[in-house]
Amino acid sequence: MPGGVNSPVRAYRAVGGTPIVITQGRGARVTDLDGREYIDYVASYGPLILGHAPQSVVEAITNTACRGTSFGMPTEAETTLARMIIEAVRSIEMVRFVTSGTEATMSAIRLARAATGRSKVIKFTGCYHGHSDGLLVEAGSGATTFGIPSTPGVPPPVVRETLSLPYNDLTAVRWAFETHPTEIACIIVEPIAGNMGCILPEPGYLQGLRALCDQYGAILIFDEVMTGFRVAYGGAQALYHVRPDLTCLGKVIGGGLPCGAYGGRADLMRMVAPQGPVYQAGTLSGNPLAMAAGIATLTALQQPGVYDQLEQTAAQLVSGLEQAARTAGVPVLCTHVGSMACCFFTPGSVRNYEDALRCDTKSFAAFFGHMLDQGVVLPPSQFETWFVSTAHDRDCIRATLDAAAQAFDAIAHLARN
Ligand SMILES: *Cc1c(COP(=O)(O)O)cnc(C)c1O
Repeated sequence: MPGGVNSPVRAYRAVGGTPIVITQGRGARVTDLDGREYIDYVASYGPLILGHAPQSVVEAITNTACRGTSFGMPTEAETTLARMIIEAVRSIEMVRFVTSGTEATMSAIRLARAATGRSKVIKFTGCYHGHSDGLLVEAGSGATTFGIPSTPGVPPPVVRETLSLPYNDLTAVRWAFETHPTEIACIIVEPIAGNMGCILPEPGYLQGLRALCDQYGAILIFDEVMTGFRVAYGGAQALYHVRPDLTCLGKVIGGGLPCGAYGGRADLMRMVAPQGPVYQAGTLSGNPLAMAAGIATLTALQQPGVYDQLEQTAAQLVSGLEQAARTAGVPVLCTHVGSMACCFFTPGSVRNYEDALRCDTKSFAAFFGHMLDQGVVLPPSQFETWFVSTAHDRDCIRATLDAAAQAFDAIAHLARN
């Protein structure tokens, strides 16, 4: 396997060392091949909002597996999960299931291009929308970590249709529309950026994108693969009260199994085959195991107080981290929204990718190593979001903050010598 991993973000190139190899997970903790236990903030990069192996999800998967794992014919579970998503996410009137977030975003863009008859796409530098050709322009996540602005293997004409603009900058978007008033099919944006660390949209930013799309007849796509059902049951669009035309989902809706979805305005979704001419298909789309895991996960998330609890846990984590860093004299900026959190090693503010790149990645790498030694596993890059689950209790947070205090002290000591 290239680099020993099946997704580049899993490698430890940015932090040094070799990845721990996991044998099992339970609640907020994972165990590695050497039998060491860690408090886990990777959470499979977002899907595991209930922690590892929650009983209701495991039972749903097990019961479904006993009755067959795939049919290539419709099942009732697809309708059930589709209905749950449509009821939860205000802007979604119809939905199509796919197998990954990557498929969701590339299919949504195909649909936006078909609906507008235009080909240009606006994305934002440092936002990650999966690994399809046209979107690997200055992408975030693994591409950021490895400093690959784009990638070999993508023909230049494909990328020429993608405009990459700075996040949180409406002036740049206005300029792009004024330059290409009738050529821009859509804007795709992470409403909360989670693949260059965790960066919140500034007040009015998402509303401004909505207004510009309306003014120029372009389609607004929210990539909520990470934020959907994570920052709120209705996603980031419920938090910020902005209605996109299309929404991409993944991660949480599959409850830890491979699943993605795109949906939105019915007049657009009716253009998707077989109802319309825009082709998109998948052998394992709407897979029964993924549907069962998704239904069980969303059902658990409907319990009152779940999102308040997640928010409180993340707030406690972040304020504790800031306090520990201040005590040690290490300049950091912690961000969080709902159960997404990040700790930027910088004395400055972070509102876009350029700011994120100014972080002290060496200090982050040292912090990561000290945390790992003390039994806390973080995503192995400064440019990833940490995920809190409902299984992260007070003891987990306390143990994490004790470890962080030592890690910050060690970094401060290193800086002084
Ligand atoms: C993870 C992610 C994707 C890609 O999803 P995959 O399932 O890894 O293909 C797309 N967009 C965002 C915002 C993501 O966080």
